[in-house]
Amino acid sequence: MRFEKYFQPTSIEECVSLLKEYGTDAKMLAGGTDLVPRLKNKVIRPKAVIGLFSIPNIDKIALTEAGIMIGSMVQLRHLQKAEELGDRYVVIKEAAGHVSSMQVRNIATIGGNACNASPSADAVQGLMVMDAVCKIDGVNGKRDVAIANFFIGPGKTVLENGEILTGFFIPAPKPRTGTAYEKFAIRGDTDISIVGAGCSLTLCEDGTVTDARISLASVAPKPIRATEAENFLIGKKITETIAREAGKLAASNCKPISDQRASKEYRVEMVKVWVKNAILEAKVRI
Ligand SMILES: Cc1cc2nc3c(=O)[nH]c(=O)nc-3n(C[C@H](O)[C@H](O)[C@H](O)COP(=O)(O)OP(=O)(O)OC[C@H]3O[C@@H](n4cnc5c(N)ncnc54)[C@H](O)[C@@H]3O)c2cc1C
Repeated sequence: MRFEKYFQPTSIEECVSLLKEYGTDAKMLAGGTDLVPRLKNKVIRPKAVIGLFSIPNIDKIALTEAGIMIGSMVQLRHLQKAEELGDRYVVIKEAAGHVSSMQVRNIATIGGNACNASPSADAVQGLMVMDAVCKIDGVNGKRDVAIANFFIGPGKTVLENGEILTGFFIPAPKPRTGTAYEKFAIRGDTDISIVGAGCSLTLCEDGTVTDARISLASVAPKPIRATEAENFLIGKKITETIAREAGKLAASNCKPISDQRASKEYRVEMVKVWVKNAILEAKVRI
């Protein structure tokens, strides 16, 4: 593992100015669970590594009336255990808790999970279901990007050279909202998922769905929303049959690949099952 310079900026401004100076020759280091193996294996050879550990406040969770702010450097174990998130944001904790082992979660960050842009990223799924907004800072100032638009493809996000992801804003869920994230993997959480399915449902008083979000991991080149299935649920009352129909619609819209974990055909079948499960679980939690 070789790089010429290591920096540990103490402010966003200092970080951005380093990013500007080194351009594509710089890599930011959060928990390092994705980055360090790539450095060790010489998959990437940046001139400068920029550790984000000394930038104040980006490792904090802040609760407001309007929602919560989660800094990009919040570790997944911290997020999984964050009591202040309560039941309203349970899917954020749940999705973070499905990332690998406790050892990995102790150092891996939520920002790293998003910026690594793996189609199978688990913690990202909690953000997708909650419609999180990515907070970005950079040489051209600050900007916000909806999490569903943050990913371009495997390993690629909308972050430009000279930009850092500082955190996420998660709007407070409406009353009568339930959420769930289901990870299906052969060896449990230490394995990469065959399919991940997240769901958020908001019901009106008579039990009709007024708002639905369904997110999927490991079945497309990036984390995706199953919008056709979401639209199908609006105006319906959730039953097992309706949840199964939504699962079929989600399956018809994904584009998985075959790899050592599962064939694309099996993945499509599993989308049907796990989307149905996520919908029914989200309903139970309302
Ligand atoms: C054994 C093992 C098992 C794993 N299992 C899973 C799993 O089951 N599910 C899962 O989702 N992931 C898994 N991962 C992947 C990894 O742990 C997660 O993606 C983790 O959240 C990455 O966070 P990090 O802080 O370690 O990121 P890093 O490795 O530090 O960074 C990842 C990438 O994001 C960039 N980056 C980091 N922070 C920022 C920022 N604030 N702004 C801009 N760019 C940034 C880095 O430059 C780098 O390119 C596993 C990894 C290992 C080693």
